[in-house]
Amino acid sequence: MDSTDIPSTIPVNENIVSDKPVCIHWFRHGLRLHDNPALLDAVEDCGELYPIFIFDGEVAGTRTAGYNRMRFLLESLHDLDDHFSNEGGRLFVFTGNVLTTLSNLFKEWSVSKLTFDADVEAIWHERDTQVRRLCEEYNVECVEKVSHVLWDPEEILKNNGGTPPLTYSLFNLVATAVGDPPRPVDAPDLSKVTFNVKSDHEKLFGIPDSASLGVFAESEEQNQRFNIWTGGESKALELFRYRMKVEEMAFSCGNVMPNQAFPNIAGPPLSMSAHLRFGCLSIRKLYWGLRDAYLKLNPGKAFTVSAIGQLMWREYFYMMSVNNKNYDKMENNPICLNIPWYEDKEKLRRWEQGETGYPWIDAIMKQLKNEGWIHHVCRHATSTFLTRGDLGLSWEDGLKVFDKYLIDADWSVNAGNWMWMSSSAFEKVLQCPKCFCPVRYGRKMDSDGVYVRRYLPVLKDMPIRYLFEPWKAPRSVQEKAGCIIGVDYPEPMVDHRKASKDCYNMMSEVKMKLAASGKELEHCGPANSDEVSKFVWLPGTHKGNCSSGNEELSEAILCDGLMGMSPQMKRGPGRCGGDDSN
Ligand code: FAD
Ligand code: MG
Repeated sequence: MDSTDIPSTIPVNENIVSDKPVCIHWFRHGLRLHDNPALLDAVEDCGELYPIFIFDGEVAGTRTAGYNRMRFLLESLHDLDDHFSNEGGRLFVFTGNVLTTLSNLFKEWSVSKLTFDADVEAIWHERDTQVRRLCEEYNVECVEKVSHVLWDPEEILKNNGGTPPLTYSLFNLVATAVGDPPRPVDAPDLSKVTFNVKSDHEKLFGIPDSASLGVFAESEEQNQRFNIWTGGESKALELFRYRMKVEEMAFSCGNVMPNQAFPNIAGPPLSMSAHLRFGCLSIRKLYWGLRDAYLKLNPGKAFTVSAIGQLMWREYFYMMSVNNKNYDKMENNPICLNIPWYEDKEKLRRWEQGETGYPWIDAIMKQLKNEGWIHHVCRHATSTFLTRGDLGLSWEDGLKVFDKYLIDADWSVNAGNWMWMSSSAFEKVLQCPKCFCPVRYGRKMDSDGVYVRRYLPVLKDMPIRYLFEPWKAPRSVQEKAGCIIGVDYPEPMVDHRKASKDCYNMMSEVKMKLAASGKELEHCGPANSDEVSKFVWLPGTHKGNCSSGNEELSEAILCDGLMGMSPQMKRGPGRCGGDDSN
C-alpha cells in the first residue's frame, strides 16, 4: 500500500489491552528475532507491538538490487512474517516515504516508542537523523541499538581519537582495546505483547512481490534455482548450525575459516554472507559461536582474531565507511587513490556478460548473474581481471555490477573489497606486481573443470587440456567438442600477458607521480605479506592437518612476470599466454 492511503485505511487500535506503550519496531536490516536488542527492548517495554518494514526505494540497498537480492530480501520478510504469525501477529509492510509513513503511523496507532537496529553505514545517517527529529516532534521515544556490527562504531572512533583507524592492523588493535564485543541477547518473548491484526491485513499490509517493486528476472537461469540460497532467519540458523560443524572440524584440525582455506567453488553453498548482510543471522552469534568453539577445541590456547579474520575484514570495511559518504566512489573519497582507469563500454559489457573469452572469468560472471553468489576466490579473479590485472577499467564499474547481482552486496563491504582488489586503497599494492592469471588460476581452482562446464555448457565437451584456454585447441578438437572458438564461444578479448603489462605500467606511473608529489600513502599502507595472503586467499598460505591438496605455492597461479619473475615461472609450462597446453 502507499503511505498516502494510511490515514483512511489503518485500523485504529481500538483493542488496546494494556496501558503500556504502543511500540513500532522498524525493520530495515536486522531481519531476525534472535539477538535483536532493539526488538527486545520493544517487547520488554510495550503493550502492543507493530513490526513494520517500509519499501522507500532505498531501504536495505533496494535501489540497486537485482532480482536475486530482492528475492532474498522478500523471502527474509516472509520468514519474519511467519514468526510473528505464529504468535498472533503479522509484519506490516508499507511502500512510500519513510517520514510520511512513520508520522502517519505515529498518529494513527498512538505510538509512544519506535525501536530499530542501527544502520551504521554513512548513506543511512541523514534518513535516521530525520527520523530521530520526527520522533522528537511527535514525542515518540526513539530507541536505536547497534547489532549489525560487532563493535559500536562510536566506541571505535572514540578510542582512536575521533577518526576511523586507517589500517587493518590498527583497527584490530583499537577493537582489542575497546574490549570483547557484546554476547547475543535473548530472543524476545512475543507472548508478552499483543498485536493488532485485522482480517484485511494481507490486502493492506502484505509483502509485495518482486514485480510490483519493479524488479524482474533477467533470464530464465535466475528463476532456475540450482543454488539453494533462500533468505530468512530460519534458513540462516539452519545454515549456521551446519556451518558451525564445519568450522569445529577445521578448528580440531588446526585450521581456521575453512571456506576460504579450502575453497570448494563448485560445492554446495556454505556461505552466510547474505544472511549477515540482511541481518538474518546475527554477526555476534556467529562471532561468539566461533570463538567458543575455538576455545573448546583448543584448550589452553589463547583466542586471537586470526581465528575469525574474515569477520574482522567485514567489521573493518564497515568501520572505514562510517563517516565517508563517498566510500563507494573514487572522486572525493579521501582513502581512495585516483587511478586513471581506461573507459571502454564494450569491454565492460563483455566482462559483465561473461564474454571475455577466458572461460574461468566467464563462468564466474555467469554464476554471479544467475545465482547471485560467487566464492571469494572467484571475486578476486574477476575483480582483478576487470581492474589492475587485465582490462584496466575502473573498480566503480565492477562495484556497480556486483551491487546489482550479489545477494550479499553491502555498500561498505563491496566498496572496501573493490578498492582493495584494484589497488585503490588498503593495500600497498601499488608495490604489488602480481596479478592473477585468468588461465592458471582457473585451472588450479577448478582442476576437473566441473565449475566452468556447469556455467558454460557450450564448453562442456572441450577436453580439460584446453578448457581454460580453448583458443589453443586445434580446429579438429573444437569441431569434435561442438564449440568453434570465435563462433560458438568468443576469442579472448585481450592477450593477458600484454594487457597485464599495460596495467602494470599504468599503476607504476601513478606510483611514480605519488612518490614525486611526496604524498603520504597512509591509507594504502596496511599490508604486509601476511595480511595480503590472508585477505587475498592464496594457496599455500593456509596449512593445517586437514589438507585438501591446495597447498602448492601461490606462484602457480600468479603472474609475476612483470617484476621479479620467479625462476620456476620463467621456465615455461604454466606460463600464461605461453605455450602451455597441459
Ligand atoms: P567466510 O570466509 O566464511 O567468511 C565469513 C564472513 O566474513 C562472510 O560471510 C562475510 O560476512 C565476512 N567476510 C569474508 N571475507 C570478507 C572480506 N574480504 N571482506 C569483508 N567481509 C568478509 N562480502 C560481502 O559480504 N558483501 C559484499 O558486498 C562483498 N563484496 C566483495 C567484492 C569483492 C571484489 C571481493 C573480492 C570480495 C567481496 N566480499 C563481499 C567478501 C567475500 O568474498 C565474501 O564475504 C565471502 O565470499 C563470503 O563467503 P563466506 O561466507 O563463505 O566467507
Ligand atoms: Mg559466511
